Amino acid sequence: MHIKNAILALLLLQSPLSVMHSQVAIPPPILNQFSKATPYEELFAFAESMGASSGIAAAEVIGRSVQGRNLYALKFSSTGFGKDPSKIRVLIFAQQHGNEQSGKEGVLLLAAELLKPENRYLFDRIDLALIPQVNPDGAELNKRQNANGFDLNRNHVILTEPETSALHGFFDQYLFEVTLDVHEYYPYDESWKEYGYRKNTEVAIGSTTNSNVSERIRKLSNGAYLPFARQYLADRGFSSFTYCPGGPPGEAFVRHSTFDINDGRQSLGIQHALSFIQEGMNGQDAFVDNLKRRAEGQMTGMRALLEFACENKEKIKSLVAAEQEKLLSPPVGQTVSIQSEHVPDGSVLALPLLSYATGQDTVVNVTDYRPVVRSLFDVMKPAGYLIPEESAILTEWASRQGFRQEPLKKLSRFRIEQYLVGAVDSIDFEGGMIVDPALRVVELKKQSLREGYIFIPTNQLKGNLLVLALEPKSMLGLVTYKQFAHLLEAGKEFPVLRVVKKPADRAK
Ligand SMILES: [Zn+2]
Repeated sequence: MHIKNAILALLLLQSPLSVMHSQVAIPPPILNQFSKATPYEELFAFAESMGASSGIAAAEVIGRSVQGRNLYALKFSSTGFGKDPSKIRVLIFAQQHGNEQSGKEGVLLLAAELLKPENRYLFDRIDLALIPQVNPDGAELNKRQNANGFDLNRNHVILTEPETSALHGFFDQYLFEVTLDVHEYYPYDESWKEYGYRKNTEVAIGSTTNSNVSERIRKLSNGAYLPFARQYLADRGFSSFTYCPGGPPGEAFVRHSTFDINDGRQSLGIQHALSFIQEGMNGQDAFVDNLKRRAEGQMTGMRALLEFACENKEKIKSLVAAEQEKLLSPPVGQTVSIQSEHVPDGSVLALPLLSYATGQDTVVNVTDYRPVVRSLFDVMKPAGYLIPEESAILTEWASRQGFRQEPLKKLSRFRIEQYLVGAVDSIDFEGGMIVDPALRVVELKKQSLREGYIFIPTNQLKGNLLVLALEPKSMLGLVTYKQFAHLLEAGKEFPVLRVVKKPADRAK
């Protein structure tokens, strides 16, 4: 304890001095020569010194971890963060998984780079926030989960953890138009070893896959950003590929990730931000194995996103604004896909892999490749949902998500629907079981509609998220989480009510 405090004091003293010398704070991974992952105390000292080093950057504590560590956002702006609406707002966050250290190191390298005068041009157009570690408690132990044992990157729908809750609160405050969630993948699994090959791409990049994310945004992501970023990385000597989980071929199919919205990328993408995931390749033996190269790859990928956002500022801003407008004023008859599956499109994937036999990079043609997400079940988007005030688990969830709530006026214009739950079956879905309840819809008479409901309208940025979370048949819904599973009970009424606008001619 004594020594730890002494080191901290030294660091705090040292940072402003080094700043005076160079005008640029030296990031901890450079100071440590990548001999260890940056510990929290050193990140803390670096973040706290950032404001002193330039007029362009400042650190904000956006929340605290389970164990009380600060969650930092390093904010860069030339005009006051979030104040100039013509700027494009970009958010990069790393290390939701504590055992994926290179994201944090890459962010720290990038932060120091961005303080250099030659990179100021970026902030003529961009307001940037960098979150070096979402999960500092896990990071200290090189552990995937947070201190409550939660995988944070499966927590973005229920938001029970302080780390994910802080991230979303920060996003909601500034409504970032471009986001990137930074991870690492571990290619050294036994199953791949037996297959004889493993993935060897230094940086994998993926966009959103949920079919409720704006098609135009997905087109720009896949058609414009992915090739741009891969070229940017290639020009700087880093190998890259499209983010492709699944496999090994023959054992499991290869896809472009889950369509679940409980992760960092899709939970923001479902609000029609341009949202990406980037995965560096993890170390093999120790978490500092090859750390310098890993961190530089991550930084280069992040830098690609900044250059893309800078070059395409007008295009992205107008696209995001137009698509978000469709969430704010949903067109009549809009549907939301609540059950989907991965299907092939007939194409063969040329997957770059490293052969264990030869030690050489090679390409394997994958035939069980399912790049397309097809909807299995759609629902009409209602005008909103009624949540019973007496259900603390639901009202607290709604407040964590920060949904806009309002009084339900002119009740005669709406039909109130309730689900009666029949049998709660489960169906085998791509190897896992999901709940698939039999439902019957009944219309509630207005007089039987008790007081004590909160009305949450769907005409908000989180409107699609709301439908996906609250529909009992949604395979991504609240009831698929064990904390909420009790809301779905065979033979009972589902507690959340649907508020559906009557057709105009019948509303009078
Ligand atoms: Zn991860």
